[in-house]
Amino acid sequence: MTDGVVFDIQRYSVNDGPGIRTTVFLKGCPLRCPWCHSPESQDFKPQIALKRMSCRGTDSCGLCLPVCKADAMRTIPFTKYVEGEPRELRIPDIDTALCTSCFDCAEVCPPGALYVCGEERAPEDVLEEVLRDREYYEKSGGGMTISGGEPLCQPDFCRDLLGLAKGADLTTAVDTSGFVPWAHIEKVLDRTDLFLLDIKSLNPELHLRVVGVPNELILENARKLSQASARIWVRIPIIPQFNDSDDSCIATADFIASLGEAVELVQLLPYHNMGTYKYERIFWRKPIFEAPVPKDERMAEILALFVSRNIPAKIH
Ligand code: SF4
Ligand code: SF4
Repeated sequence: MTDGVVFDIQRYSVNDGPGIRTTVFLKGCPLRCPWCHSPESQDFKPQIALKRMSCRGTDSCGLCLPVCKADAMRTIPFTKYVEGEPRELRIPDIDTALCTSCFDCAEVCPPGALYVCGEERAPEDVLEEVLRDREYYEKSGGGMTISGGEPLCQPDFCRDLLGLAKGADLTTAVDTSGFVPWAHIEKVLDRTDLFLLDIKSLNPELHLRVVGVPNELILENARKLSQASARIWVRIPIIPQFNDSDDSCIATADFIASLGEAVELVQLLPYHNMGTYKYERIFWRKPIFEAPVPKDERMAEILALFVSRNIPAKIH
């Protein structure tokens, strides 16, 4: 069995496949989508993170500051709301270029405000946690989903965890960007009941420029999955000024139609700007992506465009 780097296990998930599911999130992703809602999933290794609202303030606590031997810690002002009242504090700010990921600061933080995002876990240990909700899976037609990050960057861990889940009679899903060697997908093919496959844009130049990787491998893997009779739900994030034009949606719809019956559902996921706090949580200094949220009328038009091509589709 191979351990994997897991950063979250989310119970009662209803957005990662059919029924009520437990989603296991793995660290590491080769894509750099500017609208990413889980930036903590991008780095392959565990990293330091801070829940700002849990920090007691460096003036009254400050236990984390002297333990940092890398000189990576500074403090910044922060307004914390306690029972609705604003309280001005200073909280740690970490220069990630200097941080050596020793995690000594997390060790000494009394309320656990500083914490390590991501840890190596054995598949048996993860499955034990997933099985706690077996009753819900049976009642709802749910199961376990592995997501990320790009989970298939850790193909051996996925293979082992999915195998254990199938052995325990759970249904399984893998949420993938498709940007992995086909050999990684092959490792999990016989133990994955459903692939949740993201397709962002058919335009190769735009895909490379915005997402940071080309789209050819993703499209090729989509074709191979359909030829292998895998069950697929395609997920398309609808991002204004990136892929929400008629031309872009038609190109994507035509490609999906060419995959035939393997695609059981297309989920159109309107861009939203929730989750930007997660960037601060891992001390990212990158500018946060901002785009208008797609209007309901535009989402309905895009949905109609897919449905008119006999593609089973829904919003969300
Ligand atoms: S994890 Fe980073 S910031 Fe924290 S003590 Fe270690 S080097 Fe310093
Ligand atoms: S040790 Fe924890 S609670 Fe105390 S100042 Fe540092 S981050 Fe805040």
